[in-house]
Amino acid sequence: MAQAREAIASGGRAPAAASLERKFERLGLREPADFVVHLPIRYEDETRIVDIGSVMPGQTVQVEGEVLFSEVQLRPRRQLVAALSDGTGRLYLRWLHFYPNQRRQVETGRVIRVRGEVRQGYSGLEIVHPRVSVAGGPLPDSLTPVYPTTDGLTQPALHRAIARALEQADLSESLPDSMCQAFGLPSFANAIRTLHAPPAGMSVHELLERGHPAWRRIKFDELLAQQLSLALARKRRRMQRAPALTASHAELVQRLRAGLPFTLTHAQERVIGEISADLARDYPMHRLLQGDVGSGKTVVAAFAAAQAIASGHQVAIMAPTEILAEQHFTKLQTWLEPLGVNVAWLTGSLTARQRREAIEAMAAGRVDLVIGTQALIQDKVHFPQLGLVILDEQHRFGVAQRLELSRKGEEAGGEVPQVPHQLNMSATPIPRTLAMTFFADLDVSMIDELPPGRSPVITKLVSDTRRDEVLALVHREVQGGRQAYWVCPLVEESEALQLQTAVDTHAALSEALPDMRVGLMHGRMPATEKQATMDAFRAGEIQLLVATTVIEVGVDVPNACLMIIEHAERFGLAQLHQLRGRVGRGGGQSVCVLMYQGPLSQVARERLRAMYETTDGFEIARRDLEQRGPGEFLGMRQSGQELLRYADLQADAGIVEQARQAAIELMERYPEHVQRHLARWARGRQDLLRS
Ligand code: ADP
Ligand code: MG
Repeated sequence: MAQAREAIASGGRAPAAASLERKFERLGLREPADFVVHLPIRYEDETRIVDIGSVMPGQTVQVEGEVLFSEVQLRPRRQLVAALSDGTGRLYLRWLHFYPNQRRQVETGRVIRVRGEVRQGYSGLEIVHPRVSVAGGPLPDSLTPVYPTTDGLTQPALHRAIARALEQADLSESLPDSMCQAFGLPSFANAIRTLHAPPAGMSVHELLERGHPAWRRIKFDELLAQQLSLALARKRRRMQRAPALTASHAELVQRLRAGLPFTLTHAQERVIGEISADLARDYPMHRLLQGDVGSGKTVVAAFAAAQAIASGHQVAIMAPTEILAEQHFTKLQTWLEPLGVNVAWLTGSLTARQRREAIEAMAAGRVDLVIGTQALIQDKVHFPQLGLVILDEQHRFGVAQRLELSRKGEEAGGEVPQVPHQLNMSATPIPRTLAMTFFADLDVSMIDELPPGRSPVITKLVSDTRRDEVLALVHREVQGGRQAYWVCPLVEESEALQLQTAVDTHAALSEALPDMRVGLMHGRMPATEKQATMDAFRAGEIQLLVATTVIEVGVDVPNACLMIIEHAERFGLAQLHQLRGRVGRGGGQSVCVLMYQGPLSQVARERLRAMYETTDGFEIARRDLEQRGPGEFLGMRQSGQELLRYADLQADAGIVEQARQAAIELMERYPEHVQRHLARWARGRQDLLRS
């Protein structure tokens, strides 16, 4: 009865078939085309019988021979042992648990074929739990693929489905011949057939290392598809309309420059120019502003905002945390309000009334510039004249959130929907290969120069057994009139524990340093209290600020020049770099102490070494990419999307470059190939690439 119902529910097919389908679905396998590019993770060589005399420990082999004897031994535990000989040598077979029929299979005198991994046993070379079949059977003429699979889905089921798909699917060529030749690539059909059924004799090693031309073709295809998607996204963007914000020389902009308490660096001037030119165009800017921590991105954002406001539009700046939003608000208010700009802010911690007022003012167009957190992307928020959105620490936001803020501006359009310009800012530099593969639709501006008068931060690695020395250092600095941060250990497992640690650390440090004004800040404090603490620290009333990673981004207090990070081994590289960037902003020499607790894991050791060896954000990002892969940089931790299945950005950097060239050529000269290629490779992934 239940079975019948299930059969009906699954469209009349047998329940087994339906559940098989569900398993395929879990692997993303729906159409024949999906199965075709579901490629083996490794191979087994069942094409050959080797001499027993030639086998070595560690090899997976297939041999045939006569059973010299077999017996059930009882010591050290009950087990079945047999010895096999083919005249060239002897191999032992061992079963630690077995069925009666397995015993019969290896009766003395039988000639059998066995397969398995050889290891050095007590009495000689042996295979534990070998696979046994009759000798003399036919041998396959290709290597046996082993596919990535999921719970309950067997290799034979996958093999059958893939074989069927290979007959049904369109394997026609998606690249022009000239291109295959130019890059020395085999045809798609050829590559696919080779990888699913490599001819006997092909090097398993080469296939495993994925250096074989067939693998190169697959990786090339995958990277090319990605380049093409990005190129199409760029094309689509160019067809969208955005307000041309042309007031680059307005009085507002000039007065902003004149009123600054410092002179802009050359790098800042250059990127302001790049952004300004983008804003003046009538299609949306999509620009990433990169600059190491402390390089002065906020003021660049202020110039972009001024140009938009002078052109009669509204600007929204979104920051990932309240503290950061508040800092931006304070700074931009100081710079812009005297010039007649209405600056507002919107975060989750406003009272209902404050929030309502802010939202009303925005909707009525009485606000020129709004700064806030994710609260900006709530449904109720409307901007009638939104011309520019700025995302600070953009990698902290998910793809969806980034799109959401831009859409606030789309609502504002007339007949042709208009999209606001978008400026993304980040202190986490994106390594070149990554920028090329995932951000090809993003123009990049770079502040590659720090404001004058900064001296690099000295980094010290100190074992937590030397805590007293660290306390003495804090004492000295504070005596000398400077301030310090003390970052509490990260407790990933639990927020409550994290909080407790911060409170405990604060208590312990207050006791250990009785003549010092010690403050505490953590994420659970009400926003007003956080602000008050931050203000007191800025004013010098607090000398040592004990904090969780809430201070990681953006916090800017020039007189703080000592940063202590407890249990530094628990933090990621990017996070450590951000934290260290909180000091070194004023005149004097700054120091960052990374306290660690041994023994260190290999990864932690390398991370700390990277921090010790360099203060260059790009070098740190490169090592971070090496250690953690690309997801982290792209702000896609939430989506968990698999980015590249076969290509590896590090190892295949050369192919990335080729694919980039090929994409340009295809877009220009072979539009029908573009479609065919994307149909095969980019199914269902468009959204990810568009953002
Ligand atoms: P980040 O790029 O990390 O966001 P900020 O914009 O917070 O850096 O700038 C860091 C500090 O440097 C701020 O106090 C800012 O006012 C100051 N600053 C920015 N540009 C300059 C400059 N050209 N000369 C001196 N100080 C500057
Ligand atoms: Mg910043």
